[in-house]
Amino acid sequence: MKAYEVIREERINTLLEEGKKIDRKKRLEIIEKARDCYGLTLEEAAALLQIEDQEELEALFEAAREIKEHIYGSRIVVFAPLYTSNECTNNCLYCGFRAANKSLHRRTLNTKEILKEAKAIESQGHKRILLVCGEDGAKTHIDHITEAVKTIYQGADIRRINVNAAPMEVEDFKKLKAVGIGTYQIFQETYHRETYQKMHPSGSKSDYDYRLTAIERAFEAGVDDFGIGVLLGLYDYKFDVLATLMHSQYMDDKYHVGPHTISIPRLRPALDSAIKETPYPVADWELKKIVAVYRLTLPYTGIILSTREEAALRDELLSLGVSQISAGSKTNPGGYEEKDQEGEQFETSDERSLDEMLQVICEQGHLPSFCTACYRAKRTGEAFMELAKDAHIHEFCQPNAIMTFKENLEDYASEETRRKGEVMIANELEKITDEKLKKITIERLKRIEEGERDLY
Ligand code: SAM
Ligand code: SF4
Repeated sequence: MKAYEVIREERINTLLEEGKKIDRKKRLEIIEKARDCYGLTLEEAAALLQIEDQEELEALFEAAREIKEHIYGSRIVVFAPLYTSNECTNNCLYCGFRAANKSLHRRTLNTKEILKEAKAIESQGHKRILLVCGEDGAKTHIDHITEAVKTIYQGADIRRINVNAAPMEVEDFKKLKAVGIGTYQIFQETYHRETYQKMHPSGSKSDYDYRLTAIERAFEAGVDDFGIGVLLGLYDYKFDVLATLMHSQYMDDKYHVGPHTISIPRLRPALDSAIKETPYPVADWELKKIVAVYRLTLPYTGIILSTREEAALRDELLSLGVSQISAGSKTNPGGYEEKDQEGEQFETSDERSLDEMLQVICEQGHLPSFCTACYRAKRTGEAFMELAKDAHIHEFCQPNAIMTFKENLEDYASEETRRKGEVMIANELEKITDEKLKKITIERLKRIEEGERDLY
């Protein structure tokens, strides 16, 4: 059975219709049930997606906050994207990189330039990169991507590279696996076929089924860590969020591994975009609801927020269930070294630097984490899911988050960030209940102060 045989439109629509029939009392019961952190069924998620009443929304948000705290503690993982190329043979109507856009300054970085960008990202204090590129068989083929990954791992102190790239064949996924990527990320954009066809009129991306089955080919190649999402604004978010959850359930049933992450990109203005108005705008309160429904339904799945969103909303979403954020991002190849707005994929909204973001994260009571230990300790795929579902991942993550943040404070942070960060670290140490683990962490913090790095 393939994903397109399970993720069917009539099934999604039926679930949504059934969800509308659920009354307020039952919806509140579902929210209450979710507090156990065992997740929700698709039927239950469909009911929660219908919530509009302020009181019910508050109950939903409260539960999301609680679950996030239980599974992830106060940790927020931080990363930066690195765009290696904006050349693309597809024509996604909403994207600045689309082939028909003649105004864009096209550029594919060579390995030397890629390393320069990675080092610029590293110099901000990042340890995780999300590699991104357009799809161009002659320029951004698998060797371009694998060379980029190898070059960065060898030349910069970047410890985890995730990749967001076009779907590929099993053989190419094997090459991606061989160079040691973290998560393979691919967004279906919309699960609504008719809208998908309209938005992707030409190029290989117009093949809906090929894109939908990419993760299955990745699994065949041994890439068992994947991230999914939809581009919010292309179609009715209730349909697309439920379809994303259906996709997740399908993968979990088939491979016993759900998505490591779900991203929540909202459509942004792009240079020379072919759609002038967002077809299905998603309001801020709806975005908050989406985050909360994902958090309740898939408590163990990371939720990623990018700089597409404005600072104030980003700050709010952190408390609601987002577990990873990008900071200090550029969306044009070479963007960390030079400014070129005519090379950007879309406009970012949050222009704060990583250092500024770290302060905000601390001020809101969250602990920034630069941890990359799981994937290097081979806690991926099924092994990761087992730990995450039992909330045992906490035992690894809390000390690792503290130690990697400490490294950042020692090596990169401003005085102000360091001051706020040290207070946060002292508070977070107290949350480690296992005395032996706490003692080890305190010892390691001392070793970091003395110059040792990468302890996990
Ligand atoms: N080219 C590959 C692809 O399309 O899968 C990977 C890179 S693409 C640059 C990464 C993602 O950017 C897309 O999957 C899409 O969701 C998102 N994107 C494209 N245009 C956007 C826009 N105007 N606003 C927000 N996100 C956008
Ligand atoms: Fe190319 Fe990806 Fe942009 Fe589509 S979304 S035009 S495939 S870079």
